[in-house]
Amino acid sequence: MKVTKDKKMTAHFQKIIQCATISNEYGNKVDWREFGKLHQWLQKFYPTIYREFRLTEIGEAGLQFCFKADNPVKEPLMLMAHQDVVEVGDLAQWTYDPFSGELVDDCVYGRGTTDCKHLLAAEMEAVEDVFASGWRPQYDLYISLGFGEEIYRADGPDGARLLCQNLQAEGVTIGCTFDEGGSIVHGKDDTLVARIGLGEKACVNIEIYKDSAGGHASKPGLGTALGAVAKAIVDIETHPYPYRLIPLAEAQLKAAAAVEDGDKKRIYQEPKKYWEELCALARQNPELDAMLHTTFAFTMAQASNQPNVLPSHVGMTMSCRILQGDTIESVMQYLQQFLPEGVRMRHVSGEDPMPTSTPDSDDYRTVERVLHTLYGKNITLVPFLMLGATDTHYYAPVVRRVFRFDGFLVDDRWGGAHQVNERIPADALPGSKQFFKTFLLEY
Ligand SMILES: [Zn+2]
Repeated sequence: MKVTKDKKMTAHFQKIIQCATISNEYGNKVDWREFGKLHQWLQKFYPTIYREFRLTEIGEAGLQFCFKADNPVKEPLMLMAHQDVVEVGDLAQWTYDPFSGELVDDCVYGRGTTDCKHLLAAEMEAVEDVFASGWRPQYDLYISLGFGEEIYRADGPDGARLLCQNLQAEGVTIGCTFDEGGSIVHGKDDTLVARIGLGEKACVNIEIYKDSAGGHASKPGLGTALGAVAKAIVDIETHPYPYRLIPLAEAQLKAAAAVEDGDKKRIYQEPKKYWEELCALARQNPELDAMLHTTFAFTMAQASNQPNVLPSHVGMTMSCRILQGDTIESVMQYLQQFLPEGVRMRHVSGEDPMPTSTPDSDDYRTVERVLHTLYGKNITLVPFLMLGATDTHYYAPVVRRVFRFDGFLVDDRWGGAHQVNERIPADALPGSKQFFKTFLLEY
């Protein structure tokens, strides 16, 4: 598919980027008017959706659109995206204002252009287009737009949980859903690789801590609380979970083998047969390593504020990414053996991993068929396990199959998510819209 720029879509997208929908773990630190501004643009740009769908507003800024088919012949389909964006970071490093939506050298600049207002726009444009043409699906269609994906709410339930609860309250089960995650990338020799996220590791924060009476640093006695917690951390880091292969990781490696060569190709094709070699590769490659076990990363430390004061609370927070098969309970049991006397742990946030989806489904084959229709035979689908987390895990109770795939063809003109000068080429926007339009008709 040769995509060309879609002027109207670009203009819509620039307005969407101009809304500074920055999320914060505290609701009172969010400027909800910016979300209101975004909603006004959506209503203006996508009038058919606003007319034909029932809209439920959820929490401070959640939008859930629902179209009910007269005689549905398939399970409901749901398109997801989040409206919120992360902080801009160091403003001085941005070449253009992060909320200007400026179009420069054919790229739209701004926070959220690649995470993930591009997806939000593509989904809305696609649905608006097909509905405006008079077409109606023979299935219920939902569009669920979150408002706090980038953070964990500290003062209440996370937004996506509320959106899911609304579906639960209505007794809805979604057959298939799309959300951010994988994209299409260029492979070797003119080939394309579509990465479809069929699972994600659970993101769980755990604090390892020790409380003590504190006191003057001149009389520490036999060691400090900080020392005790440090021992625990060293012990945990030297005892990573052993590697194991979950079915999705195996499917991912086998599919990736098609676009690899040499030893990697051989090992990926039969990961069980060449298990020891695969483990050796994983020890050199953090991404492969993360696919094969639950990981621990200590990211935050807290102790005394003064050099001469013994800390009364020492806490180290780890970001733990739990692989399917492990649970918060089993991980905490595992960690317990490394905690010296007096050192404790607590679960701060996050939930058990949700089950992965399988590439062996009709919906997955429809994704494949649509991509072949749009891009020809040169595109290879690689199902994968996402290492980061998306909003989809909140929907675990109501969705059967989850495709973390945005339909965009990414190249090196893009400026990445969460970075300064985040940007997307305007000619990349219609590709995703086209994917969703075609999928809606084929589903
Ligand atoms: Zn995102």
